[in-house]
Amino acid sequence: MAAYNKKTIEDVCVAGKTVLVRCDFNVPMKDGVITSDKRIVEALPTIKYLLGEGAKVILCSHMGKPHNIFTEGFGLTKKEKKAVEKLPEAEQAAAKAEYLAKAVKDKQKLTLKPVCDKLNALLGEGTVVFAEDIIGEDAKAKVAAMKAGTAVLLENTRFDAREEKNGADFAKELASYADIFVNDAFGAAHRAHASTAGVADYIPAVCGYLIQKEIGVMGKALENPERPFVAILGGAKVADKLNVIDNLLTKVDTLIIGGGMAYTFAAAKGLGVGKSLLDDTKIDYCKEMMAKAKEKGVNLLLPVDTGVAKAFPDPIDDANLEVTYVDVENIPADMEGLDIGPKTAKLFSDAVLSAKTVIWNGPMGVFENPVLAKGTIAVAQALADSDAITIVGGGDSAAACEQLGFAPKITHISTGGGASLEFLEGKDLPGVSCLLDK
Ligand code: ADP
Ligand code: MG
Repeated sequence: MAAYNKKTIEDVCVAGKTVLVRCDFNVPMKDGVITSDKRIVEALPTIKYLLGEGAKVILCSHMGKPHNIFTEGFGLTKKEKKAVEKLPEAEQAAAKAEYLAKAVKDKQKLTLKPVCDKLNALLGEGTVVFAEDIIGEDAKAKVAAMKAGTAVLLENTRFDAREEKNGADFAKELASYADIFVNDAFGAAHRAHASTAGVADYIPAVCGYLIQKEIGVMGKALENPERPFVAILGGAKVADKLNVIDNLLTKVDTLIIGGGMAYTFAAAKGLGVGKSLLDDTKIDYCKEMMAKAKEKGVNLLLPVDTGVAKAFPDPIDDANLEVTYVDVENIPADMEGLDIGPKTAKLFSDAVLSAKTVIWNGPMGVFENPVLAKGTIAVAQALADSDAITIVGGGDSAAACEQLGFAPKITHISTGGGASLEFLEGKDLPGVSCLLDK
């Protein structure tokens, strides 16, 4: 586990300098309209600080998974490639051509122009100038014309194929714009791309306030937690979180497992799980983890009761779903476990309330359905009521906390689903390890 102690924007002199800032402006969009500006708002403290210090600020980010429309001879996306491969051979060429013709529309769907408009609305009109390309003529001219205390936002970095390939020439060109690189895109920090890590090969690199907070709070919890330290894992599949379970067992006092993952553990204990989610290729792994918990003296808490229904709700938010609660030993063969039961909710909440540090990743049930959200709400409520340091990572658990209104009472909700998971796995994050040490 990398114990990160990285230089921040306050550790370098930025006044009068040109600073390249990698943000996470990968905001949800519908029909060209930003549906949540959370990520833009969260980027403001770093941007405001730099502007206030009199820096020239160049902002960049990716958005979505576009075609590399700035790259000559660009190809299909991974998803399209798969779709084309499924077609009869005679139809493949035409399908490919159609996809490529449509790709030009990516420019409208995944341009950062709406983000620029939003930034100007938040920072004051005229603060941020939009560049129509990344390292092309337009961007170069606009960067050259910048004055201290203003910003340029470059176009979607993934329009260039070299971004995700971490192409050295592309990274070098990006770096040549600036004196200093600031990474503040925690959500992309688990990827070694040109704008998240590559540029740090050429200019001094430090973190912005967002990354500083992420690695500060989560790093302390993992390296030097106030105890008892309780981790709660949930979500759909054991396989998604294999390495997280393994790594957390070396750190925590109590590991709680709920959600769809818990049924593979129940099966590993020899219990019948009916039609519940089960990964029978991971039963041995679950046995291993139960043995590891015992060996490490970690209190492993599994559900004692569960909410079951005849079938997975369809639609997922069907509020008329009939749910009954049974002990885990008694899951009927024709029923599916979709939430933790009330006894388990109490067991888990009590563990949370006696903790000094809590990390939570993954909902306790199919929280998208109001009838099956009870377990997730109970755990979120316990985190909200607790005086402990409470950290939520994982896209769906973070969304659950926001939707249910618990977010203001949580110490830290991570802005990066994938990145926070890799952090919890103990993996190195290329977008952080490339930054200068203090
Ligand atoms: P996160 O994004 O917080 O890391 P995951 O993506 O791992 O969480 O898992 C979230 C999903 O798990 C949700 O869509 C939820 O419906 C599903 N889930 C939780 N419990 C169950 C269950 N018992 N059966 C099936 N799906 C479940
Ligand atoms: Mg998820």
